[in-house]
Amino acid sequence: MISAYPVRMSRVLVAEDDPDISEPLVRALSREGYDVTLVTTGHAALNSTLGGHTDLLVLDLGLPGMDGLDVCRSLRTRGSTVPVLVLTARSEEADLVVGLDAGADDYVPKPFRVAELLARVRAQLRRAGGPEPDVLTVGGITLDAPSRRVTVDGAEAALTPKEYELLLMLMRRAGTVVGRDELMREVWQTEWLGATKTLDMHVSTLRRKLGDEGARITTVRGVGFRLEKDD
Ligand code: CA
Repeated sequence: MISAYPVRMSRVLVAEDDPDISEPLVRALSREGYDVTLVTTGHAALNSTLGGHTDLLVLDLGLPGMDGLDVCRSLRTRGSTVPVLVLTARSEEADLVVGLDAGADDYVPKPFRVAELLARVRAQLRRAGGPEPDVLTVGGITLDAPSRRVTVDGAEAALTPKEYELLLMLMRRAGTVVGRDELMREVWQTEWLGATKTLDMHVSTLRRKLGDEGARITTVRGVGFRLEKDD
């Protein structure tokens, strides 16, 4: 069952010539709901990125034809600002420096855990302000981002701006824990953890306003909160 579905998802281009790496990677990214395209050569990576609507490029450094560093440099000299997440077996510091100089935004050394890579992908897309899904649904809760409207089983819930932002963060990451520190930073723009009583108060009013669906917000003691999905 799909209980949190973005209507418009970020487009991720994967440039990787090794099917043992690309196949599980494309599967995992697709499962997360990204619109994924796979290319296997440096030139294809460059042309697809320049020609298409790529929100993030996951780039292997050792590609046939034109290597990843050259792809990255060419993108930057042509004015592309697409976030580039480099996959590399060459994890030596010198290579990292060269890659970052070539315009890469982040690195994931091989071998990597898929969960780790997905976290980096999310971080890059967030930083780049990639397209947000327009409508999120979890159980009976629907959040319509363009109109900032939240409905619970079809009835509108009147949320304050902070409650709305809290819910938005929890819905975007439904099924996973969102840390208190992260919520404080994103919703209240503060690092001061002494202020988290405010967070608890907002979560409790948010729960109440969501009615029966409010029970989906689980407190993960000492860590943060999780919005439970149905599956
Ligand atoms: Ca390769």
